[in-house]
Formats: sequence, structure tokens, C-alpha cells
Amino acid sequence: MGKLLIVGTVAFDAIETPFGKTDKILGGAATYIGLSASHFGVESGIVSIVGGDFPQKHLDMFHNKNIDASGIEIKKEGKTFFWSGKYHNDLNTRDTLITDLNVLADFNPVVPENFKDCDFLMLGNLHPEVQMSVINQIKKRPKLIVLDTMNFWMDNTMDTLLKVIKKIDVITINDEEARQLSGEYSLVRAAQKIHKMGPKYVVIKKGEHGALLFNNGKVFFAPALPLEEVFDPTGAGDTFAGGFIGYLANTLDISFENMKRAVIYGSNLASFCVEKFGTERMVDLSKEEIQNRLKQFKELTQFEIELN
Ligand code: AMP
Repeated sequence: MGKLLIVGTVAFDAIETPFGKTDKILGGAATYIGLSASHFGVESGIVSIVGGDFPQKHLDMFHNKNIDASGIEIKKEGKTFFWSGKYHNDLNTRDTLITDLNVLADFNPVVPENFKDCDFLMLGNLHPEVQMSVINQIKKRPKLIVLDTMNFWMDNTMDTLLKVIKKIDVITINDEEARQLSGEYSLVRAAQKIHKMGPKYVVIKKGEHGALLFNNGKVFFAPALPLEEVFDPTGAGDTFAGGFIGYLANTLDISFENMKRAVIYGSNLASFCVEKFGTERMVDLSKEEIQNRLKQFKELTQFEIELN
């Protein structure tokens, strides 16, 4: 089993969907990734920063899930990163209302000594300079580096982002971001262009329409499970990424064939995330629930056909 280091935001989110509204609740890319990856029994740790307003109970929750939170710096005099978003009626698109970087504005990440030899590195959505600094602190190149990012960083820090993208193996982004990054409408062309920027593997997330995995000409598609109830899509992308890398870190196999399974595990976990607000559904998700839904995934995608 591999050792997994996760870098990303640990945040407060205020979310509005057609079904309701929350005050500040626990969120952040690293939070969702960590919770999702925790289902694979790998040794994992988070590098992030929070302010003095961040409750100890959330840090305890990481600890209880066997996620090493010693790399989460607490800046007592600062405020935790805050994001607020409002979803449109289709739940596939949202407007960002507020992004308060707060303690993130001048964050210098420090990778704990025991994670400098990590086998898997998940660069969650965060300032690309922070992502780069973490790569530079790792002693030997990890078996796999996965990066997730979003339009906010493309709009504000594209040059640095492109330097990080050059150094990684897998990028996970959503369809609109893939189009923005590549300047191509067709996702096949977008993936081709993104390959040329560095990553051998490109995962394009399409929300309720599933995810595509590209690897230099090869392509795999996984649908999202059609759900009766979708409440809040926040964190689904990060939960997907956590399941994807968690499975790979557990199996230590980074072949294209195994990545297909990792995409299914990621999609499976993301399908739970959207059923309740914030991290609520992920916090006490059971093994049985995950296994049962994997069966549904299998049934959904398997068919027999005669080829002449
Ligand atoms: P997702 O729905 O997968 O895009 O992830 C939503 C999470 O990303 C929320 O919990 C936010 O706290 C976090 N987030 C929002 N904007 C940013 C940003 N600019 N950088 C890093 N994390 C962000």
C-alpha cells in the first residue's frame, strides 16, 4: 500500500442550492479528497492551512478517519479560507459568490518529514505556487502525481499553473475547465492539447454525465450513477479525485486498466457526496453502502452484444 499526501484547501463553505442554504460549514478540496481516500486504508496526510476560527472538532474528525492532520497549519490570528457558491436549477452549473482567500493568501506549505517520501501525491485545487512548492519538497519523485484545479486559478495564475501541469502525471478537471485550458470545444481535442502540456492522463469530469479518462489516444468513459436525489454537488469533483487516487494508492498499480477501475471508484464515491449538504454524507459512509453501489455501477454499465 502506498503513502498518500494530499494538498488542498480546508475551508468554510456557504452553499445555496434549489433545495436549501447552509451557513458556514466544513468544506475545502483537501477535506473532500481526504474523506474519500480514507476508504482505501492507505496512510494519508493533508498539507493545508486554517485560521484560529477553525474548530478543533473538525481536526479531530480527520484524526478519527486516520488522516494525518499534522500538516494543517493553524494560523491563530488569521481566518480560514471561505468560499460561497450558488447552484443553478440544473445543479450542473454554479456561480461563485465569494472567494475569501484569508490565510491562504500568503501560505507557505511545509510538508511534514514523514510525508516527504510519499508514493502518491494529490495536488488538490489550490494556488499553483503552493502546489509547486509541495512538489519541490518531496525527496524522490512519487509514483504518481495527480492535479486538480479550477477556472479561478486559470483566470488568475495561468503561467504558474502551466508550469505545475508540466510536472504531473494525471490532471482531473471538469469539461468547462478543459475547454478553457485548451481553447478547444471538442473534449477529445482538448485532451490531446492537454497531453502536450505534460500529463499522460487526462480525466475530464462531466458532473451528472460521468467522467472521461484519456491516455494518448486511448479513452474510457464512466457514467455517473443516475440518482433519485441530488442535493448539493459541492465537493463531488474532489471526492472523485480522492476515490481515484485512494484506489490507486491502495493497489499500487498505475496501469491504464487499473485507472479505469479507479475512475469507477471515484465516480462511486462522488455519487454519495451529492446526496446531502457539504461533507455530511461522506462523514459516516459505510463499507457496505460503497460495496452495494459498486454492484449498481456494474449492472448499469454491463451489456452483452454479438460482434460479427
Ligand atoms: P468542487 O465542488 O469539487 O469544485 O469543490 C468545492 C470545494 O472547493 C469547496 O469545498 C470549496 O471550499 C473549494 N474551493 C472553492 N473555490 C476554491 C479555490 N479557488 N481554490 C481552492 N479551493 C476552492
